[in-house]
Amino acid sequence: MATAWNETRSGAVMGGAILVVEDEPAIQELIAVNLEHAGHQVLRAANVSEAEALVREVLPDLVLLDWMLPGPPGVNFARQLRADQRTKDIPIIMLTARAQEQDTIVGLESGADDYVTKPFSPRELLARIKAVMRRRAPQLTERTSSRSRTSGSIRSRIASAPPAATSISDRPSSGCCTSS
Ligand code: CA
Repeated sequence: MATAWNETRSGAVMGGAILVVEDEPAIQELIAVNLEHAGHQVLRAANVSEAEALVREVLPDLVLLDWMLPGPPGVNFARQLRADQRTKDIPIIMLTARAQEQDTIVGLESGADDYVTKPFSPRELLARIKAVMRRRAPQLTERTSSRSRTSGSIRSRIASAPPAATSISDRPSSGCCTSS
């Protein structure tokens, strides 16, 4: 049962299933709308334990992982995925308000494939996703390419979201996340 998703990786799922781990509902929604519009199936989690539960059921084709989450930080989940034989190959893109070099290094060392700093444009995020998926599963991206348009209306809706909202839940000052 848990391997069913794996079997569809060759393309049965249109653009691939993406697990979005983001605690801020508005950001989660904006990301999900864009991904669905681009042909992806979206699985949503608001914290690491929800994400763990989802991954036990299905293997996503990619994980978008917020760094600052209530409870364990996203970087811990990235390390968990990489440490588990079943999940070690799932591409991970970290989302974070942290832009300092040291944080980037910690994120990438935890096993993330890429790193997107908030606030980011949905267009940039989709481009990063596509690039990471192309590296990991070329045939999947080719199938997706004709569907990856984002309509002007949605794009402008996302673009008009106040940048401040994208970092409300991210408080670098808490300093909770750089140690293991
Ligand atoms: Ca957050």
